[in-house]
Amino acid sequence: MPSGAWRRLSRRGRVNALQFVCNNSTVVEYRGTVLVVEDDGDQRAVVRDMLARNGFVVVEVPAGRQVADRIAEVGPDVVLLDLGLPDVSGLDVLSQLAAAGRVPVIVLTGRSGEADRVVGFDLGADDYVVKPVSARELAARVGAVIRRRQRVLPAPVMTYGDLTIDASAREVKVGARAVDLTPREFELLSFLARSPRQVFSREQLLEHVWGTATGWQDPATVAEHVYRVRRKLDPADRGHWIQTIYGVGYRFSPDRG
Ligand code: CA
Repeated sequence: MPSGAWRRLSRRGRVNALQFVCNNSTVVEYRGTVLVVEDDGDQRAVVRDMLARNGFVVVEVPAGRQVADRIAEVGPDVVLLDLGLPDVSGLDVLSQLAAAGRVPVIVLTGRSGEADRVVGFDLGADDYVVKPVSARELAARVGAVIRRRQRVLPAPVMTYGDLTIDASAREVKVGARAVDLTPREFELLSFLARSPRQVFSREQLLEHVWGTATGWQDPATVAEHVYRVRRKLDPADRGHWIQTIYGVGYRFSPDRG
């Protein structure tokens, strides 16, 4: 059933340089990355194929417990979430993702009852798709949620002294030097830098940066990432943009205090 493959056209790996290639002919332009959470392998394959043919890169997740980690690794534009998961409650996954607010969620379900629909929206779903769904409708719904989110969340370029954070290109520079951050390190730095001087606890950072509710990750993870970001931004250790507020958490200092 797989009908082609994604080809990366640009050496720089910009997402808009991806094209889906079918039988050696290019069929569609890249429209976004979708994390599909569905335990049923057959259903997953159907959804993957429908989305891939319509310009979406699909990352498949077979279990609810893997969702938070995969989001942090992949940085999807939208999560397509099947509510009927064997390991955890789909509604719990939904409410945790919605609380973190980093990625929009479309609920995918075999249940068509009005009550489920209302519960899904109450818990923060951006849209709701009842199986079976046509490829055209699914692609239209996914595309609409991504466009809506992009309008709501412009990705600004932040500049503090010689530090530049370009959220849309996901590039960080200190002076002319490009700083190579992992996706999570980048999210941590850009999240803190969006609210200079505001102090965040480790638990808050886990929720907002890792996209997970407290308890899914060890808070020590935050300290490790802060340490690594500091080292990468300033190998000479001349002062930090990310400050530790002892007993409280971390904050971004615009003047590198
Ligand atoms: Ca299922």
